[in-house]
Amino acid sequence: MDLFSKCYQYSTVKEARESGIYPYFIPLDENEGTEVIFEGRHIIMCGSNNYLGLTTHPKVREAAIEATTRYGTSCTGSRFLNGNLTLHEKLEEELADWVGKEAALVFSTGMQVNLGTISALVGRGDILILDKDDHASIVDGALLSGGKIERYRHNDMEHLERVLKSLPADKAKLVVVDGLFSMEGDISPLPELVPLCKAYGARLMVDDAHAMGVLGGGRGTAFHFNMTDDVDLIMSTFSKSFASLGGFIAGELDVIEFIQHHARSLIFSASIPPANAAAALAALHVMREEPERIERVNQIGEKMRLAYKQLGFTTGHSVTPVVPIIIGDDELTFLTWKLLFENGVFVNPVISPAVAPGRQLLRTSYMATHTDSQMDQILSVFEKVGKQLGLI
Ligand code: PMP
Repeated sequence: MDLFSKCYQYSTVKEARESGIYPYFIPLDENEGTEVIFEGRHIIMCGSNNYLGLTTHPKVREAAIEATTRYGTSCTGSRFLNGNLTLHEKLEEELADWVGKEAALVFSTGMQVNLGTISALVGRGDILILDKDDHASIVDGALLSGGKIERYRHNDMEHLERVLKSLPADKAKLVVVDGLFSMEGDISPLPELVPLCKAYGARLMVDDAHAMGVLGGGRGTAFHFNMTDDVDLIMSTFSKSFASLGGFIAGELDVIEFIQHHARSLIFSASIPPANAAAALAALHVMREEPERIERVNQIGEKMRLAYKQLGFTTGHSVTPVVPIIIGDDELTFLTWKLLFENGVFVNPVISPAVAPGRQLLRTSYMATHTDSQMDQILSVFEKVGKQLGLI
């Protein structure tokens, strides 16, 4: 049996490419935020996570350039040994302050935060309780931990309580949820979730990859609900509103110090390059100095949700600048994506298993820097394509 035989027989992608509906790994020539260039064509970006539009902010760009000039291009090592800069620690101090926790720890990606944090804290004999729509990096961290995994239906607090009730009281437990769910744009109901965690003795970790910079004045989901002290651990990534690459976990100092010395994805991986740390720090400063960006992206989300609904599209449970257009079928999702793309609008097609069957969707997401005229253009293309395919 040849290990590679499955690769040679893997035809799904080749067939999709041949029929012109392959929507992934699209190589862009230019990316200036709200507009990208693909094969010489200008396309409006309506599917990025650059929520505050900071990847091209002069202060963020400048900080990345300055850091490269001062420190070079890489730290060429793990923070544990030789790759730690005072810049990383300054970033941690400011992040902890921003989210209202005692300490924060910076990893090289958000994926590594979830892998490292969950597997450091949870071991065999412990129990993880996850929302069915939790991000893949949470699920992978849970699998890596060796703990027992329980899942509850998305945002279904009755189901969560039933699960918690069924678990042995003497076992250590961690509930992990996305703060802002990245596919459907809805929010974890922390005011109901926190009392359940407390009643059943579970610790709570919130993945705020999409909420940071967007909810709670940019400080995330816990802050949004005024429940910062009730959430034990807050994680986020720099690959979205922070306009960089990397991620962090924040919480009590003792817990963060434990993670720092047990998370293998931190210890055995190189630290984020100076340019990325400096860009994230500069982005954090812009969030403080220009709160109008946070307001603007939320207003845009509201306007677009309403406009899609008025056109006759289904936008699910979104209450944020992540607005799904539910299509409900794999093929139709790809076809809609293709027509939108050909008409100059870039969105993300999402099919099962990334979403439940019947919930296949086009993920649209907005930036504070989208102009009113770009929004009008997006809507008019959606209207045209929606009518062409009988979606509306
Ligand atoms: N958590 C969530 C909810 C995410 O959406 C992502 C990225 N898509 C991550 C974690 C991982 O972040 P990163 O891109 O920094 O690896």
